Amino acid sequence: MINLVIFGPPGSGKGTQSARIVEKYDLTHLSTGDLFREEMENQTPLGKEVSQYIDKGLLVPDDIVLKMLFRRASDDLESPGLIFDGFPRTTVQAIALDELLEGKGIPVNLVISVEVEEKELYKRILGRGEDSGRSDDSEDIVRQRLDVYKQQTMPLLEYYKKQGKVACISGMCNVDKVFEKISHAIDTYMESRTVLREID
Ligand code: ADP
Repeated sequence: MINLVIFGPPGSGKGTQSARIVEKYDLTHLSTGDLFREEMENQTPLGKEVSQYIDKGLLVPDDIVLKMLFRRASDDLESPGLIFDGFPRTTVQAIALDELLEGKGIPVNLVISVEVEEKELYKRILGRGEDSGRSDDSEDIVRQRLDVYKQQTMPLLEYYKKQGKVACISGMCNVDKVFEKISHAIDTYMESRTVLREID
């Protein structure tokens, strides 16, 4: 089995691709964004607490993210193959994940980094705008989310690159084509434990 991280800026299509990966490879999907949105919709104390960060486009503090993940997803974390979407987002989170998975004997095997130009990210997120129903999809909040991504999350890619785990994929094409490239990276890894660094 395989543990994957899907990595990329807001609007890069991580959620869409994760759904397809889950279906094809029978993995368990863990999206911290989805879990937080559920807490906010149900207006739980945690949902109220995290909305003050999410609605401003800021990251939820690491200790809250980790506590939530272990509480909400402890059963899922026992599954043989996992895909992490929107997590980890900081080096602290990545180290916590490594420690957790180490105990289970399967590390993060492959990090798929989906790259999309900034102009296109704005277009996609603002285009889905009102349909998404997301409180964080307005223009100034999107700008904030992208800044936070560049400052706090991008450095994490180096952490995984040093471990030789990152496959870079251009997300500047249609959903099917992106999925084809992701599948190629996963299949190659599963067949020969080789990480393809760049995929055309
Ligand atoms: P996107 O990647 O499209 O911005 P997500 O659904 O992954 O959307 O996350 C939405 C928001 O939830 C983030 O902007 C952040 O405020 C919060 N969030 C989600 N996952 C994390 C995480 N791992 N660490 C900190 N904050 C998070």
